[in-house]
Amino acid sequence: MSDLPGSPLRDDATGAAPPVYLAVALDVPLPGLFDYSHGAPVAPGVRVRVMFGRRAMVGMVWAVREHPGVAADRVRPIEAVLDDLPPMPADWLRLADFAAQYYHRPLGEVLLPVLPPPLRKPAAYTGARSAGGPVCRADRRPGAARLARRDGPEAAAVALTAGQQAALDQLQSLLTAGRGVALLHGVTGSGKTELYLRLARQVLDQGRQVLILVPEINLTPQLEQVVRTQLCAEPGDLAVLHSRLSEGERLRAWLRAVRGQAKLLLGTRLALMTPLPHLGLIVVDEEHDPSYKQQDGLRYSARDLAVWRGHDLGIPVVLGSATPSLESWRRAQRGDYRLVSLPDRAQAQALPDIRLVDTRRAQLEQGFTPQLLQALTARLEQGEQSLVFLNRRGYAPVLRCQSCGWVSQCRRCTAHTVLHRLGGRRTVLQCHHCGDAQPAPRACPDCGDQDLQPMGRGTQRVEEFLAETFPQARILRIDADATRRKGSAEALFAQVHAGQADILVGTQMVSKGHDFARLGLVGVLNADAMLFAQDFRAPERLFAQLMQVAGRAGRRTGGAQVLVQTDYPDQLVYQALCRHDYSRFAESALAEREDLGLPPFSSQALLTAQATHLADALGFLRAVRAQADALPESAGVCLYDAVPLRIVRVARVERAQLLLESPRRGALHGLLRALLPQVDGVAAGRPVRWGIEIDPQEI
Ligand code: ADP
Ligand code: ZN
Ligand code: ZN
Repeated sequence: MSDLPGSPLRDDATGAAPPVYLAVALDVPLPGLFDYSHGAPVAPGVRVRVMFGRRAMVGMVWAVREHPGVAADRVRPIEAVLDDLPPMPADWLRLADFAAQYYHRPLGEVLLPVLPPPLRKPAAYTGARSAGGPVCRADRRPGAARLARRDGPEAAAVALTAGQQAALDQLQSLLTAGRGVALLHGVTGSGKTELYLRLARQVLDQGRQVLILVPEINLTPQLEQVVRTQLCAEPGDLAVLHSRLSEGERLRAWLRAVRGQAKLLLGTRLALMTPLPHLGLIVVDEEHDPSYKQQDGLRYSARDLAVWRGHDLGIPVVLGSATPSLESWRRAQRGDYRLVSLPDRAQAQALPDIRLVDTRRAQLEQGFTPQLLQALTARLEQGEQSLVFLNRRGYAPVLRCQSCGWVSQCRRCTAHTVLHRLGGRRTVLQCHHCGDAQPAPRACPDCGDQDLQPMGRGTQRVEEFLAETFPQARILRIDADATRRKGSAEALFAQVHAGQADILVGTQMVSKGHDFARLGLVGVLNADAMLFAQDFRAPERLFAQLMQVAGRAGRRTGGAQVLVQTDYPDQLVYQALCRHDYSRFAESALAEREDLGLPPFSSQALLTAQATHLADALGFLRAVRAQADALPESAGVCLYDAVPLRIVRVARVERAQLLLESPRRGALHGLLRALLPQVDGVAAGRPVRWGIEIDPQEI
């Protein structure tokens, strides 16, 4: 590969080739590509080792140029061509190019961070140490990915319900047409997975690859299991990718996908950026889930890039959800996506009965209404599982002095610290923003009084209260603290499935995807906290979350009940929830967004600034705003005022933001293209760091 035959640049008379200039993408915080020379052309998408300053780095060749962008004598030769892999496929390079342009980041920040870490290190991967065997090039023969048909009991398909069959027919027309996006709106338990599997099988039978995205690592094991038994002839047919794999595991899975050996790739958002030479279908399960949006570096939306990738390749994309994002819902309403509905559950069970419990005049005991406690008692007596859902981990959100009013506060952030119980009697005050943890004081740091009380409650305190109230019950808490160690989430969920728990206490971690066999009751505490959160997406998030958590109930047994405690039972979110009426909620939320000109009726970008002093961050953003105002491209773009973030200081860094918004996406991006190259100039000499986020999910 380092010496392409028939290269016009080879000087046969002398035998010496004039140098070729390569535009190389590097993961450095500088815009643009970097010129290096080499004796022969190198194909785009090949990794090379180069010196950048005095550092050896891995870069990726983007283009071959006849003339360098700088004086030829200043161009250094590349150190080595790393041809241990075939060049990245052209469609993958197009995807990266699009992502770089759309998210306004340098190509190198897209191309390199998405590679498995060993492929980014100058000395790590040489091909020889690959997945236990000689390096094999991607097999590009048509049909190379064809799977051996599996027969036998595992592959025995369930009979589809009439609703599933109708939905499958519609989805199949999409497959036949070879392109387009379907929004599969199916209530929880409607059997969307079965449809994904059927579609996947068809695509695999054509010898093409399938990419299935799930929002959460914890959801990969159960889907992995199903996919393996239903679709895989050999273990190697399936590759799984997510961030909790070891570097070696991730590399091996990635290589199998790139080489076309893995026919199916299942993973979280990072899997979307995997080169797949025969890709024929993309499925995005729970497409509304916020975790499809990366929150640092290239802040991409894997869902949105999946749609772009499908369109670019001319292959179908299926977005599935019980509560689609309002963005996708609107596209379906406008006919850009094909709406396919599954209004009923696959098995005969009715959807759970969702009731609101008015807490305004209720006598609460540790946050529980008498109704909820009675319902828990009843389910215990019937031998059914219950789930108490509370989106707040730890013991109590704050510790307070009863005599002087002191409250626990992070030293480094403008946030309260959360009281956590460790083993035994040990307690710490932990900051959920910077991770700082301090032993909880015995006496008030301000007045010395010893009467420090936990205020409010988190999952640990609820667990403790339930254990006291129902000593006969087996109580299991599932949240980020209980599942920190690798494998512990699987172990906890296995306990639930084995019926070894009577009452689960959990955060949103339990709300997604899991199929609990004997769950008869869901109680929701403190939902109102989300209702009045500042973010305009808060009601949408709340509705989706409650619908998801309600959907865990009664999937096998029927007769399930969901009790949502609230001070605001008349709110539309709750009313629509009780009727399982997503579309009513969506219509009203969309009408409100349209009135206010919010997404999806506008596009947004968020410029963020960080500094030791808030005034520097704000001053910088005001200067950027003035610069933007002066540009002709700012016509049709609304520039908001620079404001501090709600939690202004995190880890001793002050943060501020500037929101840009336009009803026309093109206008917004036009302004950003003109503005962003000037922003480093504005930042020069100011003690600030800045970033840009396109389509921010939290404002
Ligand atoms: P969703 O993802 O839409 O919430 P699932 O795909 O998890 O729903 O399906 C819910 C349950 O229904 C699963 O236990 C699944 O095995 C079962 N199921 C799906 N389709 C059928 C069918 N046609 N007949 C019987 N059971 C089905
Ligand atoms: Zn005090
Ligand atoms: Zn902190």
